[in-house]
Amino acid sequence: MDTITLTHKVRGLTLICRQCGNTEEPVTLDLGRFRVEGLTRDTATLRCLNCHAAVTIQLHELDPIAFARAG
Ligand SMILES: [Zn+2]
Repeated sequence: MDTITLTHKVRGLTLICRQCGNTEEPVTLDLGRFRVEGLTRDTATLRCLNCHAAVTIQLHELDPIAFARAG
C-alpha cells in the first residue's frame, strides 16, 4: 500500500516511488513526475507518472507544498 512514500523535510517534502525509483521534491502542487488526482475533502490519490503506481494519502500530508507558496 505504501508504494509511494512522502518524506517531510524542514521545507517541503520528498516523494519517492518505491516501485520504480521515481523521486521528486515538489515546491508546488504542479508536480512533474507525480500527479495528484481523486481529490476529496480529506484524501487524494498520488500517482507515479512513470510506473502508474498510486497510493491514497491524507490531504494534510501535502500541506508543506500546498501552503508553501509564500516561501
Ligand atoms: Zn513509479
